[in-house]
Amino acid sequence: MDSLLKNAFSPENFRQQAHNLVDMLADYLVQAQTKELTTVIPYKDPKESLTFWQKDYEESKGDVSNFFQQAIALSTHLHHPHYMGHQVNPPVPIAALAGMLTEMLNNGMAVYEMGLVSNPLERIISELLARKIGFSNEASGLLTSGGTLANLTALLAARAAKTDVWDEGNTEKLAVMVSEEAHYCIDRAARIMGMGNAGIIKVPVNEQLQIRTDLLETCYQQARDEGLHVIALVGSACSTSTGSYDDLEALAAFAQKHKLWFHVDGAHGGAVVFSEKYSFLVKGINQADSVIVDWHKMLMTPALATSVIFRRNDDAFRTFQQKAQYLWANQHSKDWFNSGKRTFECTKLMMSVKIYAILKAHGEQIFSENVTYLYDLGKTFATLIKTRPNFELAIEPESNIVCFRLVNRGMAINDLNAHIRKKLLEEGKFYIVQTTLKDNLYLRVSLMNPLTTEEDLIALLDEIERLATIIDL
Ligand SMILES: *Cc1c(COP(=O)(O)O)cnc(C)c1O
Repeated sequence: MDSLLKNAFSPENFRQQAHNLVDMLADYLVQAQTKELTTVIPYKDPKESLTFWQKDYEESKGDVSNFFQQAIALSTHLHHPHYMGHQVNPPVPIAALAGMLTEMLNNGMAVYEMGLVSNPLERIISELLARKIGFSNEASGLLTSGGTLANLTALLAARAAKTDVWDEGNTEKLAVMVSEEAHYCIDRAARIMGMGNAGIIKVPVNEQLQIRTDLLETCYQQARDEGLHVIALVGSACSTSTGSYDDLEALAAFAQKHKLWFHVDGAHGGAVVFSEKYSFLVKGINQADSVIVDWHKMLMTPALATSVIFRRNDDAFRTFQQKAQYLWANQHSKDWFNSGKRTFECTKLMMSVKIYAILKAHGEQIFSENVTYLYDLGKTFATLIKTRPNFELAIEPESNIVCFRLVNRGMAINDLNAHIRKKLLEEGKFYIVQTTLKDNLYLRVSLMNPLTTEEDLIALLDEIERLATIIDL
């Protein structure tokens, strides 16, 4: 064998490099957790960053340890308690280790023989989540790469249940009903499915940015009058911008009345099914036809890993009916162990192994504690904001997503808050994001790190107030 290839597969090199990497990552965890690392986001503008890496690529070949070190140093540090940005979690370390295992084994394929471990674990995990949702033994599910793909998978199942489009092609104008605050991927999925502008019926929201259930009937009748065949109703649990939960019980009742497929997008907040304290937020979720939950948001797993759970196992198999002789002998049998019969993906990651490793190491309880702690922290933050006259809360938070803004200066509030957010990014001491609600710009935090404390939140508000006094607009 060529010595390059032989070296690349050397077990001894691997052993040494892996030990080094684990040491580096453990050091990173110490520095992030103790805030010895003073920046949570080492922000550079994109051009500067590209130039850095182009130069790096030309300079050093073979020095992978230095590369790993730099990749750590120059990334956003999700494990830092001041990370409060997007809805991605700091993975629990055991899941990252499982990630190393799965990347080496590479047995994730959606056909049983190439997923001897990942397919049964996927079933166990799906059944666990189905039970938490409150589904009966008839339920089943699968894992797929992300909430976006999961929502598309669920809507395809809805279409398969309500129409013959898979075989016949489009013969009528289909539509889905969804809140105007729903994640953009629902809109995208509907467009991919050929529904166009008219097929995405956006129901207005109330003050809490929840779907207005009192308008469902009007929106539905209007769609019918326009000649649309409404196939599904989607509930957000919770919405992305503000973390607002739609009234799932009311949505379920409406869907039942009009024989619509009821889908719950629980990418972020479906995880409350693990929390005794907060599961009331998704009352009615057990009446959904399909539910998705991202493990890589509130459930401590590295991206991507998303569950799609169907209330009825048969629905899971209805969607994808192509023949693939080289994969499975009988395309019509409903074998759980060939997960490709139900997923968009063919080869996929061994996601189930990472989730299973968390369960093995820490038990189901860790999910409950994580969700409960972070949702509690959202309420704590809201209370802190309300005690400071310079700040205004967008809405009372139901989850760990909190939107607020600074209102103290006699200047355009949107400009002020946009400036503050930009300053914070440049400083890098805190990472938060922004969102626009009814033309107003708000600062937005997603409290994703269970090591974030009330003191960190006080420090954030102090820092924003300090920046406001020195800001030059
Ligand atoms: C994050 C999110 C999505 C998208 O999920 P990805 O895993 O990022 O693809 C969809 N819906 C909601 C409500 C979300 O919060």
